[in-house]
Amino acid sequence: MSSVTRIEWTEVTWNPTTGCDRISPGCDHCYALTLAKRLKAMGQAKYQCDGDPRTSGPGFALTVHEDALFEPLRWRRPRKVFVNSMSDIGHARVPTAFVARVFATMAMGPQHQFQVLTKRPRLLRRLLESQKFVDVVWAEMERLSSDDTVPLARSGHVPSGLPRCAEDRAASSSCPAARRRAGDLAPRARGLRGRHSAQLEHAPDAGVVGGPQA
Ligand code: SF4
Repeated sequence: MSSVTRIEWTEVTWNPTTGCDRISPGCDHCYALTLAKRLKAMGQAKYQCDGDPRTSGPGFALTVHEDALFEPLRWRRPRKVFVNSMSDIGHARVPTAFVARVFATMAMGPQHQFQVLTKRPRLLRRLLESQKFVDVVWAEMERLSSDDTVPLARSGHVPSGLPRCAEDRAASSSCPAARRRAGDLAPRARGLRGRHSAQLEHAPDAGVVGGPQA
């Protein structure tokens, strides 16, 4: 479940992963680490796995939540979405395929503005600059655009920001044509990468990645 937050620069939080490990002095006062302990004590399902006490803590083991993956695609009203307020999407133990699915979900929800914070900007930047990663994001977007279980796909709604490959698929149920247009895909893939990496900035050991906007 997402939750409305008091953080003034965002509107809702979305946590496809929870938990983390301290990686720098900037983590010394990690509010998520403290909050996870409380949420565990309250019995919240997402916070029942304990992390390594040397770097993490109670309820704060890095955990992937498949069931939270498509939450933003259920929200029609545009929102500012803080991605992983209780984790770090750049954590080395988040499987690359899952990171790609998170980015595919963001790309499929152009009505929202996604805010991604990481204290592992180099790792995340490397991923976003990898064509292999972009290809996996594309493949997941293609899959999503024809997945009946994803609410927006089920309703026949095609987000305005959907890349042409997926639009073609929604219209004709035939994406091989888009695949044949390798010349079309490459610039769009670069665009995807650029939108997400261009705004990498912040303190030396932290980063903000801007997601697609409406
Ligand atoms: S990287 Fe972020 S979430 Fe992870 S321990 Fe450090 S401050 Fe907390």
